[in-house]
Amino acid sequence: MDRETDVVIVGSGAAGLFSALQLPESTKVTVITKDEAKNSDSFLAQGGICMLRSEEDYGPYYEDTMKAGHYRNSPQSVETMIRSSQQIIELLINYGVEFERQDGKLAFTREGGHSRPRILFHEDITGKEITGKLLAQARRRSNITIYEHTEMIDILCKENVCCGVVAVDSQGNVCALRAKDTIFACGGIGGLYRHSTNFSHLTGDGIAIALRHNIPLRDVNFVQVHPTTLYSKKPGRSFLISESVRGEGAVLYNARMERFVDELLPRDVVTHAIEEQMKKDGKPYVWLSMENIAKEDILGHFPNIYKRCLEEGYDVTKECIPVVPGQHYFMGGIRVDLESRTSMERLYAVGETSCNGVHGANRLASNSLLESLVFARRAALDIAAGNNKHQVEAEAEFEPQKYTDRKKMQQENRKLVLQEIERMKKAYEQQHNHDVKCG
Ligand SMILES: Cc1cc2nc3c(=O)[nH]c(=O)nc-3n(C[C@H](O)[C@H](O)[C@H](O)COP(=O)(O)OP(=O)(O)OC[C@H]3O[C@@H](n4cnc5c(N)ncnc54)[C@H](O)[C@@H]3O)c2cc1C
Repeated sequence: MDRETDVVIVGSGAAGLFSALQLPESTKVTVITKDEAKNSDSFLAQGGICMLRSEEDYGPYYEDTMKAGHYRNSPQSVETMIRSSQQIIELLINYGVEFERQDGKLAFTREGGHSRPRILFHEDITGKEITGKLLAQARRRSNITIYEHTEMIDILCKENVCCGVVAVDSQGNVCALRAKDTIFACGGIGGLYRHSTNFSHLTGDGIAIALRHNIPLRDVNFVQVHPTTLYSKKPGRSFLISESVRGEGAVLYNARMERFVDELLPRDVVTHAIEEQMKKDGKPYVWLSMENIAKEDILGHFPNIYKRCLEEGYDVTKECIPVVPGQHYFMGGIRVDLESRTSMERLYAVGETSCNGVHGANRLASNSLLESLVFARRAALDIAAGNNKHQVEAEAEFEPQKYTDRKKMQQENRKLVLQEIERMKKAYEQQHNHDVKCG
């Protein structure tokens, strides 16, 4: 592995790959990724990606995002995301991404929390279509090198300037990878939970490293649970039943086969209703029925869900499936500004590992791929413009002996992140109760 580069990017999901592609071709870019390059949550996205359809939808889209986020969102971030959406989709289409079309025009679907259809999709494998095409583009670019099975375990830094990362390469060697700029694009925290829709190797490593280096976080108390994952007794990643299934008419039933909630309410509200219903029913799941969706629409729009449920023994065109809420998305992360800069010079964070406040307390469905791409591009443009010019006089030291007990480090990191989430949850609840009491 090359030990020196211009920009090191940690993560090969949509955020990491898009920032790599948006950097100039004269920049030497090194992408490291913990597993195979295609094993990221970005590949799992089913539902789609939002786009501002017309000026007339700006107000409703903005309001839906703020409402879902309980108005805890950063208005500037929301505005930036929505205003950039058309340009991002154009860039994706130029990279070869194909979205569903009707009569040649882009087709839009709807999900929970959206007051109107504004979500682009590719069957029910939108994430694979987008990220697969980005990966293919990145592999074609001579200035981008991707190292798989290479894990960041620390950063190199001096005087609050980041000078690259400490990584364990695919041979198990601990090495220093020096870079002028570093971008964290290392995804969410699902691997820290027993039930999650995320890949299990996504363990909030960037968050733990930020905590160890006193880099401020934001909104880490906001962890999203998805209302509908396929209930299974088997261990491992929980299979997501996309919200767009409910958007297209699927309904939830309790044990007596009665509806108990408006299925298109925001995720946290539907999750809460399901959890309450499970308690009342004394069951570890509720039922989801696709009886209102025509068979050809199920096979056309949701072929992956259909196939996966069939593997689990359920034919969704004929019967209900058991569903249960599972950890799904991390709204919080490393605090960043609109250019995705962290508090440490020359260190950027993009995608799910970062937090610019765009999602507030709860993410609106299909806003996360868009947010990842918008702010990954802004990081790349900021680097290319040379706005972050701070230089370190002396080289940051690399002390490989600090990393001999990696298992212990992983356990400590897990504890560190989960404790911080709990601490912030308590602080938020206390503040919230105080606000309520004070009127
Ligand atoms: C099942 C599912 C369905 C979803 N559906 C949608 C949807 O329809 N629409 C939508 O907008 N969003 C959806 N999301 C959310 C969305 O996919 C993610 O939030 C988004 O793709 C995050 O992108 P990312 O690049 O930040 O992270 P990821 O795509 O998760 O990539 C993280 C990368 O970092 C690497 N990494 C992690 N730690 C390290 C380390 N220490 N060293 C090196 N590499 C590391 C990983 O290997 C991976 O390559 C869904 C998520 C899931 C789980």
